[in-house]
Amino acid sequence: MKILNYINGSLMDPIGSGQMENIEPATGLVYGSIPRSMNEDVAIAVEAAEKAFPSWSSLNQNERAKYLFAIADGIKARFEEFVAAESKDNGKPISLARAVDIPRAISNFKHFGHAITQFSSESHSMPGLAINYTLRQPIGVVGCISPWNLPIYLFSWKIAPALAAGNCVIAKPSEVTPLTAYLLAEVCKEVGLPDGVLNILHGTGPEVGDAIVSHPKIKAISFTGGTTTGKIIAAKAAPMFKKLSLELGGKNPNIIFADCDYDEMLTTTVRSSFANQGQICLCGSRIIVEDKIYDKFVRDFREKISAMAVGDPQDNATKMGALVSKSHMEKVLSYIDIAKDEGGKIETGGQQIHMNGRCAQGYFVQPTVITGLDINARCNQEEIFGPVVTITPFSSIEEALSIANGVVYGLSCTIWTNNIKRAHNLAAKIEAGVVWINCWLLRDLRTPFGGMKASGVGREGGLEVLRFFTEAKNVCVKL
Ligand code: NDP
Repeated sequence: MKILNYINGSLMDPIGSGQMENIEPATGLVYGSIPRSMNEDVAIAVEAAEKAFPSWSSLNQNERAKYLFAIADGIKARFEEFVAAESKDNGKPISLARAVDIPRAISNFKHFGHAITQFSSESHSMPGLAINYTLRQPIGVVGCISPWNLPIYLFSWKIAPALAAGNCVIAKPSEVTPLTAYLLAEVCKEVGLPDGVLNILHGTGPEVGDAIVSHPKIKAISFTGGTTTGKIIAAKAAPMFKKLSLELGGKNPNIIFADCDYDEMLTTTVRSSFANQGQICLCGSRIIVEDKIYDKFVRDFREKISAMAVGDPQDNATKMGALVSKSHMEKVLSYIDIAKDEGGKIETGGQQIHMNGRCAQGYFVQPTVITGLDINARCNQEEIFGPVVTITPFSSIEEALSIANGVVYGLSCTIWTNNIKRAHNLAAKIEAGVVWINCWLLRDLRTPFGGMKASGVGREGGLEVLRFFTEAKNVCVKL
């Protein structure tokens, strides 16, 4: 399948005609090509977006909302096609794409379509002297760059609010998972989104991604991806005074106290450790367990994980699929070797899986559980972003807190306890943008989302995301 760029309302090859291979991670086989876009493609997309901006930004918000609802309906109408594409591109179980990724992409468009109709701004009165009001105006042309792990889910989390707020968008999905972004371009054409309002360019980060970040007329960048890339983007964008939202990596603690509801905790911890093969930024990759139940937990968790079947992601019964690429699989396996060198004990897993049949050349790794590592070991400090978790015991709240906060990251945390006071006190002290108590991955789109420390800047939710995509201007009127 040949994927095309979507620029100024048309599907097209890149100007330089460069193409790259698109590989299905479950099979290791090439199944299509994607454009290798460059600076010149960004230039024509920006020109189209600039041209579209005056009429798009001056549309009544209800009219813009109608387009967002139409896109949501368009994805819904092609639901199974999106599901299959998300799974094929990413290696994720098709059941996960069906239950999470595609429904969430639909709700992102619906949510921000509704949100823009409720969006308001502030007024501050200086009695007898003046009245101030805040105009929140769209920024202009903005850039949205997203990663491969939840391809259309995260792509739409950026594009939907940017469009709703009245901006025109230059968007780039990850080069390893371009297919659902291409389907989205087709949907935008089907629903008649005005030309140039959304432009989707494919290619590599250092080429087209960098061209987006560097373009002087792109005034804001909303980026989700790794912390290293976030640093590069921040360094490039800061001297141009671009508005930046950075949602970056994590090394999330999952703190388990002996008084928790054990069975519920165990079931959810299996999911929070290994959903999407551990390739969700919010997965709990460091399990920290109160010493009273440490041995029991390790035994029970090991038993459950060693029984987990890894299979063809396109099979409806599969719960664990393939890793996204060969290079990512090699990175994950290298961390398992590092853990062994650092004295870790592999409780279960630790190997690449060589499947039979269709998936014989695919990128599969056993779900892996490691104990016995020092808290400063690399596998306890660095983001692996795969099916690898570590387990560490603690004996006091202070120790749990110090282990939890003892990394550069601060994205999310889960706490399992029935002691309400302890849960709330700990939540206040945890350095993370999202804290779940006795649950994981429950998301209300109105709540702030994002990380602290090296996990990013700009915790945003609902109307705040819309605010990111606007310029605030104070107008002061003397009475
Ligand atoms: P990367 O940082 O490698 O890539 C993210 C996106 O940035 C991709 O589209 C990539 O393009 C692009 N990119 C790469 N280099 C540049 C550059 N120099 N300039 C502009 N764009 C560039 O992340 P991954 O795709 O590997 O995603 C995994 C990471 O994302 C993990 O660290 C994970 O924690 C994080 N993440 C964070 C989330 C959060 O909400 N905080 C949510 C989900 C993931 P290409 O891939 O084509 O090279």
